[in-house]
Amino acid sequence: MSSLRFKAVEEAYKKKALCVEAPGVLTSDYFGKYVFNRATMAKYLSKETLNYVQDAVDNGVALQRGIADHVAAGMKRWAMEKGATHYTHWFQPLTDGTAEKHDSFIDYIGAPGEGIIEDFSGKLLAQQEPDASSFPSGGIRSTFEARGYTAWDPSSPAFVMDDTLVIPTIFISYTGESLDLKAPLLKALSAVDKAATAVCKYFDPTVKKVVCYLGWEQEYFLVDEGLYATRPDLALTGRTLLGHESAKNQQLEDHYFGAVPSRVAAYMKDLEFEAYKYGIPLKTRHNEVAPNQFELAPIFGEANLSNDQNLLIMSLMKKIARRHSFRLLLHEKPFAGVNGSGKHNNWSLGTNTGVGLLTPGKTPEENLQFITFLVNILMAVYKHNGLLKASIMTANNAHRLGANEAPPAIVSAFLGSQITAVLDKLGKSTSDEAIVMDDKKILKLGIPHIPEVLLDNTDRNRTSPFAFTGNRFEFRAVGSSANCSSALIALNSAVAAQLEDFKVAVDGKIAAGATKEKAIFEVIKEYIKISKPIRFDGNGYSDAWKEEAAKRGLDCETSVPEIYKAYTTPESIAMFKKVGVLSEKELHARNEVKWETYTKKIQIEARVLGDLCMNHIIPVVTKYQSLLLDNVSKIYGIYPADKAEELSSMNKSLIEEISTRICKIKNNVDAMVEARKIANKIEHEYDKAKAYHDEVFPYFDKIRYDVDKLEMIVDNQMWTLPKYRELLFIR
Ligand code: ADP
Ligand code: MG
Repeated sequence: MSSLRFKAVEEAYKKKALCVEAPGVLTSDYFGKYVFNRATMAKYLSKETLNYVQDAVDNGVALQRGIADHVAAGMKRWAMEKGATHYTHWFQPLTDGTAEKHDSFIDYIGAPGEGIIEDFSGKLLAQQEPDASSFPSGGIRSTFEARGYTAWDPSSPAFVMDDTLVIPTIFISYTGESLDLKAPLLKALSAVDKAATAVCKYFDPTVKKVVCYLGWEQEYFLVDEGLYATRPDLALTGRTLLGHESAKNQQLEDHYFGAVPSRVAAYMKDLEFEAYKYGIPLKTRHNEVAPNQFELAPIFGEANLSNDQNLLIMSLMKKIARRHSFRLLLHEKPFAGVNGSGKHNNWSLGTNTGVGLLTPGKTPEENLQFITFLVNILMAVYKHNGLLKASIMTANNAHRLGANEAPPAIVSAFLGSQITAVLDKLGKSTSDEAIVMDDKKILKLGIPHIPEVLLDNTDRNRTSPFAFTGNRFEFRAVGSSANCSSALIALNSAVAAQLEDFKVAVDGKIAAGATKEKAIFEVIKEYIKISKPIRFDGNGYSDAWKEEAAKRGLDCETSVPEIYKAYTTPESIAMFKKVGVLSEKELHARNEVKWETYTKKIQIEARVLGDLCMNHIIPVVTKYQSLLLDNVSKIYGIYPADKAEELSSMNKSLIEEISTRICKIKNNVDAMVEARKIANKIEHEYDKAKAYHDEVFPYFDKIRYDVDKLEMIVDNQMWTLPKYRELLFIR
């Protein structure tokens, strides 16, 4: 009897919801309590210093070292009042998640041994050399000077967590190459700001800045801690490599938006209280489609800060889950047969004058601006659809994309019927022709002839990876465990480059004598035609779409190692160079890291799968088979042969099925190990990743198939691994 599994199940059922108390009566009383935000800075910094910091954040003006000293002094005083004894530069290496190395504030007053003081200078705030040479750099740090530096990002406020002052930083090499995800994100945000501001000036010359906004929706699973501990696959890979579907899973859609289970509700509250202290404006929480799957989302904010908050919330989620005897699963596809987890990136651009550039306006002028940005974004997504797919692709997310509940591994854009109609009419109209909308509205050329677009564009398409949702695009293909930066770097860079091209084209026409409106109109019209293949409002899950997308020339590649090559095509290299976000060398280096990570993930999964088969599945199944054999021989001992033949026939067929399946499993595991050995000898990262994808990975499903069939016939009492029904329904 499998005592561990049943003990875990029994204990999980006994667990009660924790009692969680709010840190204050009103959320606003303690919101941002641990954050060195503007309000706090105003109390701890001189007015002059504060102005410099604000100028740095709002206008990208570099901070002088002298100012950094003042900021550091104020920050230290505040942090120590909050109980901090240490500080850390918090950065985002090319692995998942974040990294930090803590240093104490202490230093000698004078000569060694003369006593200590708490010290924190502008130098320590601004820059550090954490070494951190074990993080992947794709060769940048081995071929060049090996040093890696972290540098303070003043646009994301520092915070105190536990006993440590945490300073958001970028991570770069001695030679200036980015080694992280934040540095290129900041560059991409600045590129899109510059390019979009220039285009905005056609419509409103007073616009000074364009901000990129991000609102992420974080999906996740919770699994009881005891059950998790008895599943080596969950513990080591974050997903179940084996497990037969539960008879009931999400068919009845009874979990989606249902009442939140009490233990989970306590977890959510606890998490929210904690998040509010760190200034994360969580707004929404609910059950998701799959059993034990949930979602939370904040109010959107400036992209860099919002992304840092997402990274922070992911670590808070993990930590707080343990307090409630849960384990958090951020994996994109922890369970086969039920929905996986994504992280929709709601993305938009807005001006410093408060205008949402993706919000349809009330006047024709506002709508011309809206259409201008919309069409340029479509062009960018069209030109770089392969790259955008590469930006969200990982070994984990590959299980989700193309599976039946997620967008396919093809990037297309959904606009909804209304906006589609507007673009189609615009695309067809000639310069002298009036545009007729809804049989009522006639707008003549000469004024920006953009018909009125209603604000309540409520069309929804759950199958589109990049959907327009009224005042923003929702990049839905992003994975739940991802750092949003990867998608945001590609998207903002592509849009920035496209806006630059647009400006050149429009200025050219104006120089040739066209009016501004006419020039914009003509370029837009051309773009509408060129970018048409990216627009798709139909069912993205259908096979017909895959065929159609290929005909339209969209990137339909499904192999992860292959998909990454979109980063180093001549078009991508030129685009990233043009906007100054990533150099060719950085792009190549990053791909090396991606391939290496892919290989390692599949390698680990393959090992765990082999172990599970040989140490958990086959021994149990063989034991059960022995019981059956014993039963059969006893039947023959008691009954005459012809009667025994009849009575033992079911068990004999089970015995045979078990033998056949065990043999298949063993053969497949052996073949997988062989394929791994061959792949491991390959040196080049791409070739190795390709070998893992083409030669090793295909065994996963073959092996799982027989194991899952065995799960259905072996005595439930003997099965050691918690079953799907236990993992998904106990909470
Ligand atoms: P849904 O599930 O319908 O997609 P949610 O309310 O769960 O919507 O999440 C929507 C997310 O989009 C929230 O984070 C919200 O703040 C964000 N959002 C809303 N408007 C914008 C915008 N203009 N730009 C960026 N994000 C936005
Ligand atoms: Mg959404």
